[in-house]
Amino acid sequence: MKLYSINTGYFKLDGGAMFGVVPKSMWNKLNPADENNMCSWALRCLLIEDEGKLILIDNGMGNKQDAKFFGHYYLHGDDTLEKSLAKHGFTKDDITDVFLTHLHFDHCGGSIEKDGDKLVPAFKNATYWSNKNHWQWATQPNAREKASFLKENILPIQESGQLKFIEVNSEKAEFISESLVVSKNIPPLSTFNSPLSTHLDLLIANGHTNAMMLPKINYNGKTIVFMADLLPSAAHIPLPYVMGYDMFPLTTLNEKNAFLTEAVENNYILFFEHDLVNECCTLQMTEKGVRVKEVFKLSDI
Ligand SMILES: [Zn+2]
Repeated sequence: MKLYSINTGYFKLDGGAMFGVVPKSMWNKLNPADENNMCSWALRCLLIEDEGKLILIDNGMGNKQDAKFFGHYYLHGDDTLEKSLAKHGFTKDDITDVFLTHLHFDHCGGSIEKDGDKLVPAFKNATYWSNKNHWQWATQPNAREKASFLKENILPIQESGQLKFIEVNSEKAEFISESLVVSKNIPPLSTFNSPLSTHLDLLIANGHTNAMMLPKINYNGKTIVFMADLLPSAAHIPLPYVMGYDMFPLTTLNEKNAFLTEAVENNYILFFEHDLVNECCTLQMTEKGVRVKEVFKLSDI
């Protein structure tokens, strides 16, 4: 198995929204805001090459919306999905599977592109993976989350016939979540085997949005977890640093607590999708709680 970090560019989001109840005097030291209170974030995806499969986990914002849309999010930097794939000798047509952690625009926007007036799959040879619970949640969005679930990113995937659902069932989830439950009172992150690959397990988290999937990958004897929006950056490791965007912040708090304890015990490597500078880290327990031990690049593993 080989892993590649695929940067699809950078974007900006309101710093206050990204750090929830944490005051600006604290978060501004971690990711300094511009004059509009916006902070830059990465759109970093992960490519897994394994046994003839080429699995792309998330795919950034894409480029099909108009200038007004991108004006809100300040997509910037030289890296694009295409360029980052090309660096490793791949094109979009080589991708066999597109795994979508969830359907917020900054995770799945690259799934669909414009072909003239038509919206078509950007990965024409790939199976796209989501799960039924999340798909229903995203296609019948609540008013608070609606701006993140864009129809043009989501519906054409189903129309193309390339969509498949990973089965999330509570029986399996309960069984395998045993190892993740720190206290019986904490609603567990649930895990199960994915049909994609024998090396890919999933964690399901429900605090950020309903049924977000975090891949867990065994690689060179290490366990790497793709953090998606459970921990968008290393700055979000301290427990109260929960995004204002989260639908169920107390659920996120419990999921973070359970995950961080499990991650320290098993020396997991965390891979950050949105951290501007830190690609990966390990964790350690300190007097203040779980904190970063070491930061490094994926290519250093
Ligand atoms: Zn999200």
